[in-house]
Amino acid sequence: MRPLGAGGRAHAVRPYNAGRPWPRRSYNGVVSTPLALYVHIPFCETKCPYCDFNTYAAIEPLMPAYVGALTHEIAAWGAWLGRPPLASVFFGGGTPSYLPAPHLAKLTEAIRAAFEWPDAIETTAEANPGDCTPEQLRAMRAAGFDRLSVGVQSFDDGELRLLGRRHSASDARAAVRGARAAGFANLSIDLMLGLPGQPLDAWARSIDEAAALDVDHVSVYALTLEGGTPMEADVARGTLPEPDADLAADMYLLAQERLGAAGFEQYEISNWAKPDMQSRHNLAYWEGRPYLGVGPGAHSHLLGDALGPHGVRFANLRSPRTYIERVSAWEPAGVVSASALASAGAVETADALSEATAAGETMMMGLRLNEGVSDAAFRDRFGAGIAERFPGPVAECLSLRLLEWSGGRLRLTEPGRLLGNEAFGRFVAAASEASSGAGRA
Ligand code: SF4
Repeated sequence: MRPLGAGGRAHAVRPYNAGRPWPRRSYNGVVSTPLALYVHIPFCETKCPYCDFNTYAAIEPLMPAYVGALTHEIAAWGAWLGRPPLASVFFGGGTPSYLPAPHLAKLTEAIRAAFEWPDAIETTAEANPGDCTPEQLRAMRAAGFDRLSVGVQSFDDGELRLLGRRHSASDARAAVRGARAAGFANLSIDLMLGLPGQPLDAWARSIDEAAALDVDHVSVYALTLEGGTPMEADVARGTLPEPDADLAADMYLLAQERLGAAGFEQYEISNWAKPDMQSRHNLAYWEGRPYLGVGPGAHSHLLGDALGPHGVRFANLRSPRTYIERVSAWEPAGVVSASALASAGAVETADALSEATAAGETMMMGLRLNEGVSDAAFRDRFGAGIAERFPGPVAECLSLRLLEWSGGRLRLTEPGRLLGNEAFGRFVAAASEASSGAGRA
């Protein structure tokens, strides 16, 4: 699944560090704001037929060795970077809730030992409703998680079967109640729209139930048929109907209307939150702050004086078995540099970002937010305003009414939110043309 290129009304996003400057300190050559830490858990009890994430069923025997390797990677990064502070922790996958509680506790202990973990950070785990027993939820709270992101996807049992999910709608309702009872004060649910054969009224029932539920945050994703997945093959063979893009757009507009009426503010193309309950971790990606990902296939972007003006982005190799071998043998030494990152741990690819690429990504990620991109902040970072750096894309998107200026920020218009990818593509293409000479780390 992938976020729909669509959106709604503009609302200000309250930044995590509202009113406070980010601390700046040198961590072994990397001067960084606090890190958003992503921890990849590649285990799923069953593989859903639409999923192309780097996740696997039937590799449970790897769990102990995997947790050992991940613990080692966490400790090594913490030591190498000089125990920097964290802004957020996010366990995603895969299915973090499928990992036995002692493994989860071992991992959060390793993070506390390796990084500075301020009291107020957001610590999220993704959860499958089928795993949300009272014991597992209590154990996850005890391990330090304060936010649960529950993969509900639908409140219709037929749709859940179509999606190959192992939970029912009543499991999803019980998971939300159980999470509150276990002490999770911050609860998010995911829903999917645009499923093959999904009628609008079925979606209306799911979104109405989500809007009425005792949760703080709702993410709405449109199903994307990913190449090589069983669901894509079923649609290609004609055994499943092709999802209807126009109907998906109607479903999206309905989500905007019903979630807005229930007090959820849309702050990003796919995300709605009660006041002050936006996902701090995901805001780090959209606002271009540094993040470190651990585990197979995890992506990172570190910033700092030793890493060039726009930092280095890198990704771990994807195979869990090879990851365990590679990362377990890693003993980092010396200063952190672009070339050292390229051969660190289980890193497979690394790129020092060119100015053009960084500017394009700032636009692509920032325009996802309802508040858009600040022209002044863009000028501070890149030495030119958005319209000077991207004259063609800005002029085209303004004339097509995809974008608008508002209070010194460039943002998607209301109708432009249904065509977000049209705007993003123009900025990315212009940036890629300009950065053809960018070097690899
Ligand atoms: S539970 Fe999530 S990560 Fe696992 S297979 Fe299903 S969609 Fe993919």
